[in-house]
Amino acid sequence: MKTVFQKIIDGEIPSMPVYRDDKCIAIKDISPQAPVHILLIPIKPIPRLSLATQEDAELLAHLMLTAPKIAKEQGLQDGFRIVVNNGIIAGETVPHLHIHILGGRQMAWPPG
Ligand code: 5GP
Repeated sequence: MKTVFQKIIDGEIPSMPVYRDDKCIAIKDISPQAPVHILLIPIKPIPRLSLATQEDAELLAHLMLTAPKIAKEQGLQDGFRIVVNNGIIAGETVPHLHIHILGGRQMAWPPG
């Protein structure tokens, strides 16, 4: 069964990406946890980070280098947080790798 992110990537669920290239798409989170909450999603459906392989090294680097660009475009020059929930115990609800980009408010640590 397709995940909600796969349906968004395939255009079955309409979305208004804030960023897109040949390797990834970025959308606003439907349930934002901060004034800015973007999901950066690779087109390749890796279920979670721990299932990425050496073959995905270039893609993972691309995501890490793209996240700060998106944060800057979203006005987060002062700072931002990125989060990857890996597995259900960590809070992952959609089994398609994605990077949360959060900002626009003071963040606490540890996050809980
Ligand atoms: P996870 O909990 O897996 O780390 O993050 C999944 C995120 O996807 C959640 O923050 C949730 O709000 C978001 N989400 C779930 N369904 C949709 C959707 O249909 N559209 C958008 N834009 N975000 C979604």
